[in-house]
Amino acid sequence: MSHDDCLFCKIAAGKIPSHKVYEDNEFYAFHDIRPAAPVHVLVIPRQHIETLSACGPQEAPLLGRMMTLLPQLAAQLGVGYTGDDTGFRTVINTGPGGGQEVYHLHAHILGGPGPWSRMG
Ligand code: 5GP
Ligand code: ZN
Repeated sequence: MSHDDCLFCKIAAGKIPSHKVYEDNEFYAFHDIRPAAPVHVLVIPRQHIETLSACGPQEAPLLGRMMTLLPQLAAQLGVGYTGDDTGFRTVINTGPGGGQEVYHLHAHILGGPGPWSRMG
């Protein structure tokens, strides 16, 4: 299920180029074009879901798999949490009040040496 006019549907389908870091049948991950941290990756479901607020119990298994994918990708990107000073930030902006710019559900992974502070 993809929306013809959705930027992230097009990116997941390879119709618009991106710097891919991961893909499987359900998810696609790529570097943010405007990185707010040394590592800034976006993780999206291939399924077009506009926002976190559009999710109900039916989406719970997908969201669970997306959530567990985040630390795996952070580790792959070299910013996983391994103790001491390591780790990463996960952000999901929802709606204009939450700073969402692209209306296809996505999680930001931010990490790496600072200082950086933009929330996503
Ligand atoms: P939002 O504010 O919706 O949570 O985040 C959207 C993110 O998508 C922004 O951080 C922005 O830099 C990124 N972005 C917007 N357009 C593109 C694009 O065409 N390619 C890539 N890789 N990232 C994009
Ligand atoms: Zn979409």
